[in-house]
Amino acid sequence: MVKSNNFRDGYNMKNIAILCSGGDVSGMNPAIKQFVDYTLDKGMQPYFVYDGYEGLIDDKITPANYSDVAGIMTRGGTKIGSARSIRFKEASYRAQAKANLDKHEIEMLVVLGGDGSFRGLHKFYEEHKIKFCGIPSTIDNDINGTDYCLGVDTALNIIKTSVDAIRDTASSFSRAFVIETMGRDCGYLALVTHLTSGSELCLIPEHPYSLKDYEDEFKKQMKNGRRYFLAIVSEGIKEDSNEIAKWFEERIGIESRVSVLGHIQRGGNPTVKDRLLAYQFVTKAVDALLDGKEESVICYEKSGFNFKSIEEVTSKIKELDNELLSYLR
Ligand code: ADP
Repeated sequence: MVKSNNFRDGYNMKNIAILCSGGDVSGMNPAIKQFVDYTLDKGMQPYFVYDGYEGLIDDKITPANYSDVAGIMTRGGTKIGSARSIRFKEASYRAQAKANLDKHEIEMLVVLGGDGSFRGLHKFYEEHKIKFCGIPSTIDNDINGTDYCLGVDTALNIIKTSVDAIRDTASSFSRAFVIETMGRDCGYLALVTHLTSGSELCLIPEHPYSLKDYEDEFKKQMKNGRRYFLAIVSEGIKEDSNEIAKWFEERIGIESRVSVLGHIQRGGNPTVKDRLLAYQFVTKAVDALLDGKEESVICYEKSGFNFKSIEEVTSKIKELDNELLSYLR
């Protein structure tokens, strides 16, 4: 049973809360499970804040226990909800949020979100000194300072399954398929999908292109017996996907279809990689807060896990991995 006072087993308990902000990703639930399991094991009292910063403002804050996270490992999305909050951009609502945390004697926050959420958190820290650790969570993989954001691997695997299925029909029906992935201004999902799906064309914002450059080669391939094309395009490119399909029809001479993958990319059963990363991100975030680290984002790079400042993760646009980019023709 959760106790209402601030002591457990004779030790002074620290109250710590978790919330999800911005777009949900698959991997949030495994992170929430580890948060509850680990903080309880450490003798802390975990709390859920429902619906992101909106829940902070409206005091949707409740103590959590092992039973609250039973069985959530396999589910995408987030058990505690996520939201965008216009009100949190105003200092008066952030003061209300702080008053709610004070009421529950919560001193520390773990926040799963993107760079926008971290910007808001930075203001909150500057005004109210609430200690926090951010965990980069977005399928776009566009946060500076980290090579990997929670949710990316599950999104890539869902895209992989979709592209493999579309290939079946493209090859049977002799069509060109233009498959649009998410990613906002970042082409990471499209690029990795291209390199791992054997598609013929990949268009992303980071790689300047002219469709004309592909015309001779694609027409030659058609003459030599190619029956279908797969084109992976990122939502951030300058053309609409329908224009790319029109180009296939008019310039290459093959009937074309567009498939916008949309929100299926955000959900689904979290992959092993996302479950493990969620476990590690949360464990390290909680340890850092207990060690007195006040304001940081836990990042994952080739060199391992590193804590970065909000300034570092929000001040620059993330650049695509140069090696992966160099494989694009
Ligand atoms: P993400 O975290 O995925 O980048 P958003 O950019 O939508 O998502 O940000 C999520 C929430 O973070 C916003 O709805 C808002 O409540 C808060 N936020 C973002 N930027 C700021 C800011 N400059 N000041 C205060 N709060 C902010």
